[in-house]
Amino acid sequence: MNKRIIILPGDGIGKEVTAEGKKVLEKIAALFVHQFEFEEATIGHDAIEKTGTALPDESLAKMRTCDAILFGAVGHPKYDNDPTLKVRPEQGLLKMRKELGLYANLRPIKLFDELLGASSIKPEILKGSDILFFRELTGDVYFGEKVKSADGNTASDLMIYHRYEVERIAHKAFQAARTRRKKVTSVDKANVLESSRLWRETVNIVAKEYPDVQLEHQFVDTAAMKLIQNPRSFDVVVTGNLFGDILTDEASQIAGSMGMLASASVGDKVGLYEPIHGSAHDITGKGIANPLASILSAALLLDISFGMKKESAALIAAVELSLKQGYRTVDIADPKTPKDKVLNTQQMGKRVVDNIGAKAGQDMTALNTGAFVASVS
Ligand code: NAD
Repeated sequence: MNKRIIILPGDGIGKEVTAEGKKVLEKIAALFVHQFEFEEATIGHDAIEKTGTALPDESLAKMRTCDAILFGAVGHPKYDNDPTLKVRPEQGLLKMRKELGLYANLRPIKLFDELLGASSIKPEILKGSDILFFRELTGDVYFGEKVKSADGNTASDLMIYHRYEVERIAHKAFQAARTRRKKVTSVDKANVLESSRLWRETVNIVAKEYPDVQLEHQFVDTAAMKLIQNPRSFDVVVTGNLFGDILTDEASQIAGSMGMLASASVGDKVGLYEPIHGSAHDITGKGIANPLASILSAALLLDISFGMKKESAALIAAVELSLKQGYRTVDIADPKTPKDKVLNTQQMGKRVVDNIGAKAGQDMTALNTGAFVASVS
């Protein structure tokens, strides 16, 4: 197959990890005889420095015409510490999601057995956890009207949802649940928020079309507690933009590290694939960022945007094999990890590249790909 992929590194460790994501895609193309054409585009602080805007028209035009996008992250300390700056990296992110109609963010929380010890949660609670989050991405307080009073002492963000926005993501969640354990947990705050009551009412209506899927509702505070108390009780979770943002960072601890969690943002057009982590100023430039979230995002890209199930499974198997061989980046190493097994960003990327297509890796693909191959298109 011939495919055109936009690489959108963004800022901080976004640049470091997407470089490794690109390398694994190149290896997959060579091994499975595909032609992948790569082109770079700018976003975030990087784009502001170069063009004065967080998402240049040129970047957007490239994205509108490509087959898939591999994204890193945006963000720079300059903006985090100065709320008065009007042009900000995250504006690029929100505009990109809106313009490309990327309304559903899939976040598979898949724990590799080798990393059971890397989490701060007890292994017996974690083992077997496999959750697929659907976070709504183009509504909620992120896009509602923002107001600050003239005297500067009052500010508000409108939490707003339209019925069609809830319907379309609920359908995606129920469809995915049908390919998994047939359970959907819808998370809201319907005891106090009107937008959550609309959310719940709409999910209940959509659920009638999927009588074979069990639906439960949870308030976001309860869900936050149950996620670490009994993560195995969740299969598919569907929730709004704000709650999904927070809950999936919490859920990253199930997978051991922020550096392990991939995501796919899909809608009606092109798909965008990115780690759930940000630009991580604290480790930028040190060469220690874990590239596996970006590499697993590339696996989602192959699966969801290109329908390349075998290729995607081979990539996930290569990640699993690298972990089985004992290799770790600092964030997922523990005190017992031998020093020579602790790799930097590029070394871990190379380890995975070398393991793609390895016999042992191929044998393992059947074991551990469930969450990544849910049918979501
Ligand atoms: P972060 O996700 O960047 O980092 C949180 C913590 O996790 C840090 O300690 C970091 O070192 C660690 N971490 C993250 N990714 C890692 C990886 N691959 N390997 C090893 N450790 C990793 O969140 P933050 O520190 O709150 O935010 C930093 C910047 O990123 C901010 O400017 C924020 O606005 C931005 N941000 C962007 C996105 C995005 O582009 N989608 C998402 C979240 C935050």
